[in-house]
Amino acid sequence: MSLVDTFQRRITYLRLSVTDRCDLRCAYCMPERQTFLPRSEVLSLEELHRLALGFIARGVTRIRLTGGEPLVRRDMIELVRALGRKLGDGLDELTLTTNGTRLAEFAGDLAAAGVRRINVSLDTLDRETFARLARRDSLPQVLEGIAAAQASGIAVKINTVALKGTNAEEIPALVAWAHGRGMDLTLIEVMPLGEVEADRFDQYLPLSMVRAGLEQRYTLTPSAHRTGGPARYADVAETGGRLGFITPLTGNFCDGCNRVRVTTTGQLHPCLGGTEMVDLRAALRSPDPDSALHEALALAMRIKPERHAFAIDAHGQAPALARHMSVTGG
Ligand code: SAM
Ligand code: SF4
Repeated sequence: MSLVDTFQRRITYLRLSVTDRCDLRCAYCMPERQTFLPRSEVLSLEELHRLALGFIARGVTRIRLTGGEPLVRRDMIELVRALGRKLGDGLDELTLTTNGTRLAEFAGDLAAAGVRRINVSLDTLDRETFARLARRDSLPQVLEGIAAAQASGIAVKINTVALKGTNAEEIPALVAWAHGRGMDLTLIEVMPLGEVEADRFDQYLPLSMVRAGLEQRYTLTPSAHRTGGPARYADVAETGGRLGFITPLTGNFCDGCNRVRVTTTGQLHPCLGGTEMVDLRAALRSPDPDSALHEALALAMRIKPERHAFAIDAHGQAPALARHMSVTGG
């Protein structure tokens, strides 16, 4: 069985969250006092492995591991090694999204397991702004991690959430910095996910405004580059680099959607912006996991919605979906 939904979209990309835990507390992502899941609720290494193999057997060719912070999970590298063995044998790409704090430690292992590209989230190059936003003074480790990944031959893409009053002014400099080091950069609009202390309206910065600001300084040419995800790209003439824009609130990216997400607890979300859900953990822990998983994935394909339901109203109020990005996996 391959994974094709009712709108004839073929699912070839899985984002798998391996932990809800994190060593940072980015203000838009989680509150300072985040309550983490008890371990029994989190998929075990064996369950993650079995699940990933099930997706690969059904035509998923790219897997992105995420979290929370994937590199804080102790057995994470074992999973990367196990899945790395499927590269060239069903799997085309194994990658991860990380905050970079522990990359210096793991870059060599990741490269050895076959990881060729990673995304590193970085919203500012200013140490104080970083410490305020992430509530931890970890910028030096992140920069060290990025350098280590590049030295190991891993291509790094930077993901930057555009935030009003925090990094809006700094974005052109971030683009120049990343492109100057051979890294693409993708800007992300802040999304209404999970309750955090700060008011969404204070943070929300439409990327249309950021783009207009960038165009005063740079020549942006729309690029045909696509990854099957929500990002739209532009080439920047002055830097020779590529700039991505992910605009879940102002743009529309659902037509070509090729992905599903699985949370740390094994809940499959066919759409990041929807409330549909299928419990793969129950399937994995049932007496007949293979057929239960089969049924569950077939159900997921039936309920994957045509498009997402995000919205921020005229007052900037978002009906925040109850789950945090750190659980769903960004
Ligand atoms: N900890 C890893 C990291 O930060 O890269 C992986 C998980 S994190 C949840 C994945 C991505 O989601 C990061 O790029 C982060 O900036 C982004 N993110 C988190 N909360 C968000 C929100 N409310 N709106 C938009 N992006 C968000
Ligand atoms: Fe952690 Fe990533 Fe969320 Fe920041 S965005 S708190 S690094 S999970």
